[in-house]
Amino acid sequence: MKLRCLIGLVCGFGLGGVVQAAPLQPPTLAAESAETRFERDVHQFLESLWRLDPDAAIWAGRYEGAARLVIPDAVRQAEQLAFIDRWHQHFSAVDAAALPTRQQTDRAMILARLESDRWQLTELREHQWNPSDYNIAWALDYILNTAYAPQPQRLLDLSARLAAVPAYYRAAQAALKQPTREHTQLALLQAPGVLAVLGEIEKAARDVELKPKEKRHLAQGLAAARQALAAWQAYLKKLDGELARSGKARSFRLGGELYEAKFKQQIRAGIPARALYERALAAREELLTRMEALSIELWPQVMGAAAPPADRYARIGAVIGKLSEQHVAPGDFYAEIRRQIPLLNDWVVSKGLLDMDPDKPLIVRETPIYQRGVAGAGIEAPGPYRPQDRTYYNVTPFDNIPPQQAESTLREYNHWILQILNIHEAIPGHYTQLVYANKSPSIVKTVFGNGAMIEGWAVYGERMMMESGWGGGTPEMGLMYSKWLLRTVSNTILDYSVHVLGMGEAEALDLLMRQAFQTEREAREKWRRVQLTSVQLTSYFSGYSEIMALREARRAALGEKFDLKQFHEEFLSYGSAPVATIAALMGR
Ligand code: ZN
Ligand code: ZN
Repeated sequence: MKLRCLIGLVCGFGLGGVVQAAPLQPPTLAAESAETRFERDVHQFLESLWRLDPDAAIWAGRYEGAARLVIPDAVRQAEQLAFIDRWHQHFSAVDAAALPTRQQTDRAMILARLESDRWQLTELREHQWNPSDYNIAWALDYILNTAYAPQPQRLLDLSARLAAVPAYYRAAQAALKQPTREHTQLALLQAPGVLAVLGEIEKAARDVELKPKEKRHLAQGLAAARQALAAWQAYLKKLDGELARSGKARSFRLGGELYEAKFKQQIRAGIPARALYERALAAREELLTRMEALSIELWPQVMGAAAPPADRYARIGAVIGKLSEQHVAPGDFYAEIRRQIPLLNDWVVSKGLLDMDPDKPLIVRETPIYQRGVAGAGIEAPGPYRPQDRTYYNVTPFDNIPPQQAESTLREYNHWILQILNIHEAIPGHYTQLVYANKSPSIVKTVFGNGAMIEGWAVYGERMMMESGWGGGTPEMGLMYSKWLLRTVSNTILDYSVHVLGMGEAEALDLLMRQAFQTEREAREKWRRVQLTSVQLTSYFSGYSEIMALREARRAALGEKFDLKQFHEEFLSYGSAPVATIAALMGR
């Protein structure tokens, strides 16, 4: 399989024999255009970024720094700030007007990213209050399981990385100032996952040819890492106890000022968080009105002769509750997801919604243990430098879940919602979008992807499928789709209410369960997630409402010439840029 080489800068770097490097035209010095110069700048910038931050590089699919675990101390922070300032100055000085639109937006995204990084280091300072920030497991797992080099070389990289683990946890401990109890407990919850990855490394080493000295070094590294992890756990346990007694833990609520700043930098919607919150309140009213009409229509056939309650939430809730009894058995959950993926693929192609790349298979698997704890299901895609790798659909399994809780989750992901989940996560949602993004001619838009565009696309994909008739346009599907969209809208309301308006647990659970018809398990998981994350939960509704507005504006502007498939493919072709940026590119 060959990697499509779209611009010079992604090609030919340590990717082994897979890549066919397209040689850049050697520019004569006098004729070097602003465009070529910018491309070279971006290349240098990214290469320095990957050298500075080997973990970010691994995330993007670059493994040259795999052997190096960066120690998160004060020296490190000074390095990061110097890097940010140097490159911010550099790209600020570039004359944007001399660049084509595509590069103007790349420049804007780089500057925005650098400003956001600086703000996170100096204002948000999560490294001081979020112990779960210090998680070594995922990078170890990637190094162990990605075929960037032969297995013995990967084990040597791991061996070098493990040797730095004691210093890593010592620095982490020194950096923590006033953590939240919620993030402290999350770090404790994730520690066994780190231990599990260390065990996998040990197991892999048994079957690999290494020199005796190398074996010894790896064994020492593993032993030291286990010891350091145990010390870290003991420290966190003690810290959590002290925070509980003293009442001096930091609040998990971000507060209005930090929230608006984070929203502005991460969502990039062009409106304040407060305005999005108000838009969500209006969308909620509209959805409830539609759901009420559907539940009146469905009442006789679903509920029979029982008298409908007068309360709107009670009436909608009763119909949803009854329909939710139709769900798969716990043991059939994965099989059903696997069965649906090719059906969705065929539908999207045959209805002329999008073309799908048959060379990029999606693997459904159980979520690796160290990643569990926040979300229930998600797509894990290869970075832009490794488009030849597999894309996984991680689903958290039902093992060790009490039967009552499993039943609650299965009712939530009932016959209809499970289809919408697959649409959102896989086709034409995240999986499809990421396959397109990795082909994008802009590496910047791919590596600095905008979360609101990514989540907004997945939510828009649900709408696209409903409009094309998936699910037969039945009132049952209509009601369940509305319930799902209400969840998206409620995510925004909940996040803003909790972090800015001080909403408490009881009020949050009422918003999600009684007023948004979620099962208790789903609602409790969301309550947990809103304590551990901020702003991210608004990205779904923000991106969705922007994409819908863009599509309708294009339809109005193009009239008869508007073509839905062309709109979808053009929209995705720019990579994961903010929706407003894509709108500017499409409107040229
Ligand atoms: Zn059941
Ligand atoms: Zn999503």
